Amino acid sequence: MNDETCIKQNPLAEVIEAMDIETFVKASVRTANPLPPLPLTNGALFIDNSVMSEWKQCPEQFKNRFLLNRTAAFEKPALNFGSGIHDALKWLERGFALESALASMADHFVKVPQPPDDHRSPAHAEETIRRYIEHHKTDQWKVLQTDKGPFVEFPFAYKLFDSWRDRDYDGKIDMPTQIPIFFCGKIDLAIEKGDGTKWIVDHKTTFQLGKMFSYEMKKSAQMRGYCWAFKKATGSLPSGYIVDAIRTNSEPKGVTNDCLLEDSDEPRKKWWREQFFREPFYIDQAEINEWELNTIAIIEQMLWHHSHGYFPQNDSWCVGKYGRCQFYDVCSLPVNQRPLMLQSNMFVEDTWTPLNKPTL
Ligand code: SF4
Repeated sequence: MNDETCIKQNPLAEVIEAMDIETFVKASVRTANPLPPLPLTNGALFIDNSVMSEWKQCPEQFKNRFLLNRTAAFEKPALNFGSGIHDALKWLERGFALESALASMADHFVKVPQPPDDHRSPAHAEETIRRYIEHHKTDQWKVLQTDKGPFVEFPFAYKLFDSWRDRDYDGKIDMPTQIPIFFCGKIDLAIEKGDGTKWIVDHKTTFQLGKMFSYEMKKSAQMRGYCWAFKKATGSLPSGYIVDAIRTNSEPKGVTNDCLLEDSDEPRKKWWREQFFREPFYIDQAEINEWELNTIAIIEQMLWHHSHGYFPQNDSWCVGKYGRCQFYDVCSLPVNQRPLMLQSNMFVEDTWTPLNKPTL
């Protein structure tokens, strides 16, 4: 879709501007779905955890990112820092030397620089990796192998179900159309512990650790989905998943003062030790079955809304614990001005694909 067609294409705006909701709701007068088409690949729909979570947060946000391919142009230093850390860990887990992994990470930050005033600098990333290795050097685990090498950044796409759509946008009942739905993603790592149990590992860079972080990870649909995929790939369920968390906040000023007062580097070492936290979560088949049912129900809900030509807005997500939604300024405009704003230089094309996941 070029810019021109996108700006013109907004029949929904005309309906809402005219407050003619009743007309809009009457299927008989609707001739064209105002929503962009679903991004099908050879007739199939590929869904990953990012798509699912954006839908759950707000369907309007999902539309802007995944159907119109727009994302905010402002820098995302936390995401970019996480991508650099993931890059280095990937090479280490594939058996490359530390210096090679660090060189690859440095190259990442040359290609996608961090803002100069952000504490998550390339130097901070390098120190994080060096301290991470030191911190975990006694952990006993073995990277699992696949026929293509180590089970590291393992991409997958497995069929979840067939959705049958039997309703045209104009309300006519048609021959049912089959849309195969694939769940896809990339598993960071799979390992075997010393006791022979197998686990999925997910690296998480985060600005906050602690109880709330653990609560969030315990309920993670992403991790259940990856356990489901692991079973598809290997034939058996892992014992669970390990969240390998790396906190990325800046060193507090007090640490330097304490080091000076104690004439020792111990306060700094202590602070770094608190930056790393690995937590295992066991999983069983019942939880995976529930994830599967739940995911299918949410995708059917998404397709239902698409076939009815309107995605609801979830205003409870407009302003949240991480600040304002990236589309806040778009949704604050009158409906007919929003396409123009999305095409402005405040937004860029979203190059995300299901197999190139954000890494935060
Ligand atoms: S600003 Fe609110 S309504 Fe708009 S996309 Fe974001 S969460 Fe949805």
